[in-house]
Amino acid sequence: MATISYDKMEGSIWYNGEMLPWEDAQAHVLTHGLHYASSVFEGERVYEGEIFKLAEHTDRLINSATLLDFKIPYTAEEINAACRETVLQNNIVDGYVRPVAWRGSEMMGVSAQENRINLAIAVWQWPSYFDPEMRSVGIRLKTSKWRRPDPRTAPVHSKAAGLYMICTLSKHAVEAEGYDDALMLDWRGQVAESTGANIFFVIGGKLHTPIPDCFLDGITRRTVIDLANARGYEIVERVIMPEDMADATECLLTGTAAEITPVGEIDDYRFKPGAITAQLIEDFDNLVRRKAAA
Ligand code: PMP
Repeated sequence: MATISYDKMEGSIWYNGEMLPWEDAQAHVLTHGLHYASSVFEGERVYEGEIFKLAEHTDRLINSATLLDFKIPYTAEEINAACRETVLQNNIVDGYVRPVAWRGSEMMGVSAQENRINLAIAVWQWPSYFDPEMRSVGIRLKTSKWRRPDPRTAPVHSKAAGLYMICTLSKHAVEAEGYDDALMLDWRGQVAESTGANIFFVIGGKLHTPIPDCFLDGITRRTVIDLANARGYEIVERVIMPEDMADATECLLTGTAAEITPVGEIDDYRFKPGAITAQLIEDFDNLVRRKAAA
C-alpha cells in the first residue's frame, strides 16, 4: 500500500509526551512488547481534519491495556489531546491515527512487573483499505482455517497485538489464492468476523450480525447498528453458522479501516451489494464527513 516503508515516512510522532521527528521514534530490540506481545493499539480515521469517535477509541485503548494487566500512564483526556495534536502537527486532513502502547525493556522475561509503559501516536494519509471499485461488486473472502479463540484462552476484547497473529496468517493464506480477505469462524465454528472488520448479512430484509462475545465489538459495528436503527432496519444479533450464509442476499464488513465494504463472495456463497448496503454506505459517509452532513 505505502510506496515507502513506514519507518521512512516524514512527519512527527508523539512519543511518551514528546513530538519526535518520524525517524527518531524508535524502540529497542529488547522490548517486552516485541518479544511477548505486551502491546495494544488503536486504529482511528481522520475525516476532514477530525478524528471520528476519538473518545470511544481512547477508552478502548485504555481498556485494552487493562485487559493485558497494564496501565497507560496518561488520562483519556491527555491521550485525546495528544491524538489531535499529532493530526494537526502532520497536517492530516483525511487519514489514519495509530496509537500504540507497549511494555518496555526494564525486564525481559514472562514477568514484566517493572516495565515502563510506553505510548506512541503516529498518523498518516490513508485512502480506502479495499479497492474503492469493489464497492459495486463486493470483495471476495474465503474462510480461514484459524478460529477466533475462546474467551478463556485469550483476552478477546482487547485490541491486543498478539491477537493479530492469526489474522495475518489467515490473510496471507487467502491472499495467496487471490482473495481479498479471510472470514474467521470462532472456536465453536460460528461466523465471527474478518481479519480486521466485523461482518453483517442481509437476510430477509433484516441485518444479521454475530454476537461479539469472542471478538471486538467494533466502533464502526456499533455506528452501523445506530444508522440501521435510524433507518428502521431490524438488527438481529445472533449465532450465525456458516451454512446460514446461504440465506443472505447482501453482506458487508465494517471497521475503521474497512469503513463499510460490501462483500460479493465467501467460499461458495454469493451476495450482491443491494439497497440496504447502499443506504448504509450513504448514511455512513454523511455521518463521517461534516461537509456532506451540513
Ligand atoms: N475486528 C478486528 C479484528 C479489527 O481489527 C477491527 C478494527 N479495529 C474491527 C473488528 C472493527 O473495529 P472498529 O470498527 O472499532 O475499527
